[in-house]
Amino acid sequence: MIEKPRKRISRRDFLKVGVLTTAGVLAGFTRIESSVPTADTVFVNGTVITVDRSGSIVQAVAVRNGTIVEAGTKEAVSRYIGNTTKVIDLAGRTLTPGLIDSHGHLPHFGARERNMVKLQGLETKEEVLERFSERARKTPPGRFISGWGIESNDLAFINRRDLDRITNEHPVLAVHTGGQWGFANSYALKAAGIDRSTPDPPGGRVRKAPNGEPTGLLIHYPALYLVRRIAPPLSDEEIGKNIRHAAMLYAGDGVTTVHDNFFDMSEVSANRHAGVYFGQALSGSLPVRVKIWPYIPSIREASFAVRELVQLQTARPDSPFNDVIQYRKDNPEGFARVWGGMKIAIDGGGPTSLWYRGERSVTLHSTEDLHSMVKLFHQAGQQVSVHAVGDKAVDVMLDAFEEALKTQPRADCRHRIEHALCPQTTSLERIRRLGIVISTHPQWLYPWGEKMAGLKGQRVIPLRSYMGQGIPVAIGADPPAFSLWQPQYALWEAVARTTKGGYHFTPEESISIKDALRMQTMGSAYAGFQEKEAGSIEKGKKADLVVWDRNFYAIPANEIKDAKALLTMVGGKVVYER
Ligand SMILES: [Zn+2]
Repeated sequence: MIEKPRKRISRRDFLKVGVLTTAGVLAGFTRIESSVPTADTVFVNGTVITVDRSGSIVQAVAVRNGTIVEAGTKEAVSRYIGNTTKVIDLAGRTLTPGLIDSHGHLPHFGARERNMVKLQGLETKEEVLERFSERARKTPPGRFISGWGIESNDLAFINRRDLDRITNEHPVLAVHTGGQWGFANSYALKAAGIDRSTPDPPGGRVRKAPNGEPTGLLIHYPALYLVRRIAPPLSDEEIGKNIRHAAMLYAGDGVTTVHDNFFDMSEVSANRHAGVYFGQALSGSLPVRVKIWPYIPSIREASFAVRELVQLQTARPDSPFNDVIQYRKDNPEGFARVWGGMKIAIDGGGPTSLWYRGERSVTLHSTEDLHSMVKLFHQAGQQVSVHAVGDKAVDVMLDAFEEALKTQPRADCRHRIEHALCPQTTSLERIRRLGIVISTHPQWLYPWGEKMAGLKGQRVIPLRSYMGQGIPVAIGADPPAFSLWQPQYALWEAVARTTKGGYHFTPEESISIKDALRMQTMGSAYAGFQEKEAGSIEKGKKADLVVWDRNFYAIPANEIKDAKALLTMVGGKVVYER
C-alpha cells in the first residue's frame, strides 16, 4: 500500500533541521573578514547533492537575495555568514535541488483534494457507488456532484442507471482518472439537454445504447463539457483556494516548480478563471513556481489563441483569454516566466488512448486539423506540449512535428510529448532527431502496472532507452489524473519498475537513482526552458532547495518512496517546514 504522507510535523523531525543560530560567532563558523556579501541563509554540515554537470556532492550552500551565491565546502560558505545570516545545520541530512514536476494541474488537483468525490484507489463498482451515496446523503438536492478518479479501464464499468440508483435528485458526473471520459446520471443528462437526438460534439462521443438512449458514457473533453457546463461556476476565491491547496501539497513534498500543461480557458469550457491563476503565478504568492501551457481544444481556438495571446492583435470582446492578454501587456517579463506554450491533446486515457492494436480509439482532431494546429503554434514560436498516450498517438504527433519543422526549421523548440506510455522502439530515433522532450511518469507503474496487462514484457516508460538515445526526459506526477503527487514515488519507480502485484516491468529499462533525480530536476527544467536558473545547486541559480530526512543515494531503492521533505525553499524563502 502507498501510504499518505504524514500531515503533522513531529517535534523530533523539526529539531533535526533546527536553526543553529542567527547571529554572532558560531561554533566553528567564525566569519573571516571578507569582501563577500553577507548571506541571508546558509546550510552547513550536509550532504548536498548538487546535480551539477559532474554530479558533485558538497557540504554547504549560501543563499542571498533568493539566489545561490556559493555551494562548496564549509570553509568556502562560512565566509558568507554575517550577523544577520540564518544558519541551518543540516546535521548530516541531505539537500537537493527543488524537484520540478513537469506535469501537474493545480486547479483540478486542488479541486479533487478539497471538493470532489475522490474515487482513486477504489477497485469495485460497489465501492465507487457507495462513495457517491455518502456524498449524495450530505448534499442538498439539485446540487452538482462531481467525482474524479475511476481507475477501471472498462468503458462499461458503470452506466447512468447505476448512478440513478444513487440519486435522482442530483446531477452526477463520475470521471475516469485520466479525465478524458466519464459517466453521467439521468438527472445530469437531462439537465444538460442530452437525449437520443444529441449528436456527437466534434472530437467527442455521446455513447448510445442499441435503443438509441444515451448510456451516460461521455468520451473526450467535448462530450464531458456538455455536462460540465451545467455545474455552477466556482468563484474566483474558490479557484484561488484550490490552486493554493495543491501548491502547498507539492511544496510539502519537495517540489518547487510545477508545469501545468492543462489549463482550459477556451470558449468550450467557459472557464473564466485564467486571471486568478495567472495572477497567483505572477505575484509569486504561491509556495511553488508555476509555468502554464493553456489547453487549446480546437483549430478555431488555436487561431484565436495565436492572434490574441501571441500576436496581441485585437481580441474578441468576450475572449476567454482577456485577463491573460492584459497580464502579458502589463508585465511582459513576468509573463514570459509563467507562460509555457500551447497544450493540445490527440488521444485519451486507458481505453480511449490510441494504439496500433486498438479499434475503439478516436482522435480528438482530424490529421489535417492537427497538422494545422501544430504548424500554427510552431510558426508563432510557441513550445507545443501534446497529450499522447498510445504508441500510435506518439507517431501521429511525430508526423505533425516533422511536417511543421520541415515547413519552418527552428532550432531548440523543445516540443513536448506528454505521457508516451510505450512508444514503438522504432519511434525513438525520430523523437531524438526532432528534438522532442518526453514528459512522463514512472510512478504510474506501481498502482496501474497491473492494468497494463497487454503491455507486459514491453518497454513501458523506457527511461533507459530514452537516455541511450539522448532523448531529453522530464518527470511529473500528473495529479489529479494520478492519485499521488509525491516525486519520491517517481524516483523510486524509475529505479524499481515494480507493480503493486510484484511484476517487474522490463528491468533493463531501470535507471539509477542519480539519473532519476537528474531527470526530475535538470530534465524537467530543460522541458520548461528553465535549466539556466533552476534544476541544480550551482552559483547564480535560484535558491530552490529541499532538505530530506535521508540520502537518496545511500538507501535501498525501496526506501526512496518513504523519504520526507523536512524543509522546502523557493527563491530563498522557506515555503514548507515539517
Ligand atoms: Zn495531465
